[in-house]
Amino acid sequence: MINIFQPTLGKEELKAIEEVFESNWIGKGPKTEKFEKQLSEKIGCDVDNVTTTTCCTEGIFQILDYLEIGEGDEIILPSISFIGAGNAILSRGATPVFCDVDKRTLNATSFDISEKITHKTKAVIIIHYGGLPCEMDTIVRLCRQNNIKLIEDNACSPFSKYKEQNTGTIGDFGVWSFDAMKILVAGDCGLIYCKNKDDMKAIKERCYLGLTTGSGLSNSIDKKWWEFDISYPGRRSIVNDITSAIGLEQLRKVDTFINKRKRVHEKYNRGLKNLNWLKTPDNFSADLVSSYYMYWIQTEDEDTRNELAKHMKENGIYTTFRYYPLHWVEYYNDKSDLSNTEFAAKNTLCLPLHQSLSFNDVTKIIKTIKEFK
Ligand SMILES: *Cc1c(COP(=O)(O)O)cnc(C)c1O
Repeated sequence: MINIFQPTLGKEELKAIEEVFESNWIGKGPKTEKFEKQLSEKIGCDVDNVTTTTCCTEGIFQILDYLEIGEGDEIILPSISFIGAGNAILSRGATPVFCDVDKRTLNATSFDISEKITHKTKAVIIIHYGGLPCEMDTIVRLCRQNNIKLIEDNACSPFSKYKEQNTGTIGDFGVWSFDAMKILVAGDCGLIYCKNKDDMKAIKERCYLGLTTGSGLSNSIDKKWWEFDISYPGRRSIVNDITSAIGLEQLRKVDTFINKRKRVHEKYNRGLKNLNWLKTPDNFSADLVSSYYMYWIQTEDEDTRNELAKHMKENGIYTTFRYYPLHWVEYYNDKSDLSNTEFAAKNTLCLPLHQSLSFNDVTKIIKTIKEFK
C-alpha cells in the first residue's frame, strides 16, 4: 500500500537517541533546550516566545486555559479543523462556533470569520489547510478591531510563510505538531508560540506543574533547594530529551523534506491538470509559501470522489479526506449550515504526499487516477 503520510527516519535519529542514552539523562534537559532554541531561530523569534509541549492538542488546551475561556464564551473555528481544537473549546465549557471556508483552498477567510462574530467571541482558531497560509492581513485586522485573540493551529504548516513571516507567529498564539504523521516527526511533540513573552512564561510554567523555581540542580546551593512554589496548579506537559533528539535531527532535514514535497505536488499538478472531471489546486500568490503537507483534488460530485477513493485503495493507494467537518460530528450536536464546507467535504480527496514517496509511485498514482474514467 502506498501510504498517504509517512515519516522519514534514518540512522541520524537513531544515533542521536543513542547519545541521549549514553548521557544517562532521558528526561527534559539539554536536547530539549537546544530543540527549542533551534526551532525559535527557524521560525524567526526569540526562544522566550516558544516552549515545547507534549503535543499540539495540549498546546491548544493550555492556551484556552490560560485565556480563562469559559462558559458563555464563543470561539470561532472552521468546521474543517482538527478535533483536538474543538475538544479544547468544549473542555472549557465554551461554545465552538463553526465558520465556513473557501471551497477551493479550504481555508477560512476574514469574511467567513466576520459572519460569526458576536459580543461573546473571545478567540479565533484558524488552520492553514494542507500547509497553504490563510490570507492573514485581513484576518489579523479583523481580530484586532474586535479585540479577539487569534490562535493559529499551525500543525499542517510548519515553516509555511505569509509575506515572509512564518505562520504560527503571526497571530497572538501558535501551535505546531511533530506527531508521527506530520512533516517533521519526533514521536509526539508540540510547540507553543506566544507573541507576548509574559504570556509565554506563564504558559511554560503551567506546562510544568506551575513550578516557579528551577529543579534542585539548577537552584543555587546557598538556598534550600527542596523548597518550591507554584504560580498555578499546572499539568505536566513537557517533552523528554529522546523526543527532542529526534526532533533536532529532523529539523536539519526539514527543508529537504519540504522541497521534495513541493516537487511531488508539482508533478501531480502537471499529471492531472488536463483531466476535465477533476480540479487540481489553484496556483497561489508569491506571498504564500506552503510547506506542502497535503495535496488534494476535487471531483464534480460526491459519488465520483467516493468511487475514486475505492478504486485507488483497490490499486494499493491510500487516499483520504481531512478533516471531517466538526459540525457533522454527532457529539458536537451542531446544526450549522456551511455550504462551502459541505462542498469541500463531499468532493475533496487528499492524495499521498510525503518526502519518501518515489517519483515512480507518483507516476503510478497519476496513472491509476487516469484509468478511473
Ligand atoms: C495533527 C494535527 C493536530 C494535532 O497534533 P497533535 O500533536 O497530534 O496533538 C492539530 N491540528 C491539526 C490541523 C493537525 O493536523
